[in-house]
Amino acid sequence: MSEPRLPDRATSQTDEQELSTRLNSPYRDLLGSPTPPIYQTSLFTFDTYEEMLERFAERSDHPLYSRVDNPTVREFEQLMANAEGAERAAAFASGMAAISAALFAYVKPGERIASVRNVYPDAYRLFERLMRPLGIEVTYHDVGEFAANPDLLEGVKVAYLESPVSVTFEVVDLDQVVENARRHGTLTMIDNSWATPCFQKPLAHGIDMVLHSCSKYISGHSDTVAGVICGSQTAMEAITDISVPLLGGRLAALDAFLLIRGLRTLELRMERHNRSTEFIAAKLAAHPLVDRINLPRAGDIPSLTGHSGLFSIELSAQVEIARFCNALKLFNLGVSWGGFESLVLPISAGQAQKSERNALNEFGISPSLVRLNVGLEDAENLWADLEAALHQASTQT
Ligand SMILES: *Cc1c(COP(=O)(O)O)cnc(C)c1O
Repeated sequence: MSEPRLPDRATSQTDEQELSTRLNSPYRDLLGSPTPPIYQTSLFTFDTYEEMLERFAERSDHPLYSRVDNPTVREFEQLMANAEGAERAAAFASGMAAISAALFAYVKPGERIASVRNVYPDAYRLFERLMRPLGIEVTYHDVGEFAANPDLLEGVKVAYLESPVSVTFEVVDLDQVVENARRHGTLTMIDNSWATPCFQKPLAHGIDMVLHSCSKYISGHSDTVAGVICGSQTAMEAITDISVPLLGGRLAALDAFLLIRGLRTLELRMERHNRSTEFIAAKLAAHPLVDRINLPRAGDIPSLTGHSGLFSIELSAQVEIARFCNALKLFNLGVSWGGFESLVLPISAGQAQKSERNALNEFGISPSLVRLNVGLEDAENLWADLEAALHQASTQT
């Protein structure tokens, strides 16, 4: 297993970073608080006309209004930018708000998005139910096609990636996609929620923008819904100028505080998820009732240095999926992932979701597939739970 690493906090003293350093440092905070205050306020006042004028003219970084800039949110954005090796980050009220903010800043009617197949199901619904009716074309491609076909991105505005993709967990070779995208002037975006900056830093491989659902590992405690976009100053300009103020789906200060707390243990948690998952995946691989395990490994592609705790298995035809799920005691049935608790999501149940454009059906996902989220509980206990449930659900017993 490789060591997860986050870069050290930025030390350069630009105006923007000075505020964040002040907020987070016990040595700089007048009262010695090691955590930032929660600025639970909608607006910030000015002492004088001149100070207000300076702010409107963007010659000062005094906060103005929390839809635009809130110091607690800024602190989280700075930490995320540091973690991803980005110049700038913008935080949103959900992962979907971040995804739509990134796409609507860049894609216009008549333009095309090339997305990976098996993209996150609500991103798929955004493409099909909102963007396509606006005249934005969306095409879907296997991960291998993204890497291998040098002309796939000809005429494409945005290459929308997840690596690994949702549900089936195939990985995309980021270096190959970047090479192809640069040839055609295509902007690249990746949803990095699964690997986190501990195990994959896409910007270092030339990807333009990194997105996260912070509701998952960044929060780590299943108590927040949030999202973020990270990128260069140039790449982020359209997002901070257009999507942040005008779409307005911003992160709240209290949630930013929870995410800052989550980030402090991210490396520790990811190391544990990595280790427990390695142990459980090895046990599952040796089990006669498990046909297949979909779990990417460090080195499968050059950018990946570890794996998290979310993966899927295909159960043999001799396992009744409902019985398997009901027999589990430590793994609860639930959507989402990335928190303390282990979860199981049977795809056959998700395929019954009454909603237009269900990606699980439209991409033809096998109903025998079950997604597991390995949490932070004792790994031996988790394996004992899975083993007992497999035994109970086998039609041969
Ligand atoms: C959950 C998830 C999202 C959406 O994030 P929300 O915070 O729920 O809006 C996006 N991408 C992936 C891969 C996810 O798992």
